Amino acid sequence: MQVDDWQLHTVSGGHFKVDGGTMFSVVPKPLWSRKATADELNRIDQATNCLLIRMGDKNLLIDTGYGSKMSDKQRRFIYAEAGNPLERSLAEQGVSREEIDTVVLTHLHFDHAGGVTRRNENGELKLEFPNAEHVIQQGEWNVANADWPELRGVYTSENYELLADSAQLRLIEGDVEIAPGVRCVVTGGHTEFHQAIVIEHGDEAFYHLADICPTSWNLPTAWCTGFDLNQLETRRSKRRLLQEISERDAWLLFDHDPELAAVKIVADDRGEFVVSDRLTTL
Ligand SMILES: [Zn+2]
Repeated sequence: MQVDDWQLHTVSGGHFKVDGGTMFSVVPKPLWSRKATADELNRIDQATNCLLIRMGDKNLLIDTGYGSKMSDKQRRFIYAEAGNPLERSLAEQGVSREEIDTVVLTHLHFDHAGGVTRRNENGELKLEFPNAEHVIQQGEWNVANADWPELRGVYTSENYELLADSAQLRLIEGDVEIAPGVRCVVTGGHTEFHQAIVIEHGDEAFYHLADICPTSWNLPTAWCTGFDLNQLETRRSKRRLLQEISERDAWLLFDHDPELAAVKIVADDRGEFVVSDRLTTL
């Protein structure tokens, strides 16, 4: 999508499948299955919609998908795509990994930060975007590196350990405008320091809420995913941001929706939000 002198594109970090119930926590299947179709093993499709913003001669990328480092066994387990889906998707936009100047990570779970690193022919860990500054919330970085036993399996250090003590790591604290028109907003909920990204340029505004509202199926304000560490905070942040999006007539971007990349929403008389316009890709 062309916005003034910027271009915004959804780029895929790869499709995968998850158990349907995990995306809806306590919501019973008879309710969520009206929205999302589960296969015979109860799995539903998930995208990893990353966002490429081309601002003049600068390229900014939000999130990186699951990357290329998974073993064949790990890929089969979640039905992940082969190879390096994000590299392919960026190439379709005529952008190489060397041309990415800034990578903003909403949080450090594998399906968002897996693409930060790759293994070369010798099996050595390398940064996928060798010329990029990587923007991460300080709190998210601390938690991911804390090695707490209660979060074992949630964070995989090979995805981000190369950034430690490097000049390519920019840790921010709280709500920060990291580039003109690109603002990080801490939401908490999904992880303690999970952040959304708000993009304002020309006459348009875009809200990348990441896992606070990962698909159009997750629009009901009380619905959370089973992965949210603090469901009350997810509900509060989601309601506040959806209200703001509807009042501003902004675009709401979905990171995991397999069909919709962006929607506009309006509030209904119950205080819930319904889709009024939709885009399958940006
Ligand atoms: Zn996610």
